[in-house]
Amino acid sequence: MYCRECGQLISNESSMCTNCGTEKGLGDNYCYKCGSIIKKHDLERCEFCGANLNDNRYVARENAKSKLIAVFLALFLGGMGIHRFYLGYVKIGIVQLSLWILGYFTGGITWIITEIWGFIECILIYINKIKDSNGNNLE
Ligand SMILES: [Zn+2]
Ligand SMILES: [Zn+2]
Repeated sequence: MYCRECGQLISNESSMCTNCGTEKGLGDNYCYKCGSIIKKHDLERCEFCGANLNDNRYVARENAKSKLIAVFLALFLGGMGIHRFYLGYVKIGIVQLSLWILGYFTGGITWIITEIWGFIECILIYINKIKDSNGNNLE
């Protein structure tokens, strides 16, 4: 989609414009779908492509992470924090992964901790208690 503030093309992975730093979907200068300039700011639909300019929910849909994938990652690789990396929580993921690796040196104690941790988070993801790092619900 295009930045609504400056018209720059934003990749699906990033949550804000790399050109002006505006959050995806904010601003009213450009159409998010075709990138054309919006002259009238109270316009409901883009006059070029017909995209609904008042509908910002597409942002969440576009970025939505799969709940199914997150649950499976937490279930099978949860001890290593892989599901945390998937959901964008890199720091927590690194902590979990480090503890998991430390298991080799602690006789498996930290390994057991991260396995339980991962399993609990698997359940939390399943009952929608964990969102992705952008605050979006998983789908
Ligand atoms: Zn921008
Ligand atoms: Zn348009």
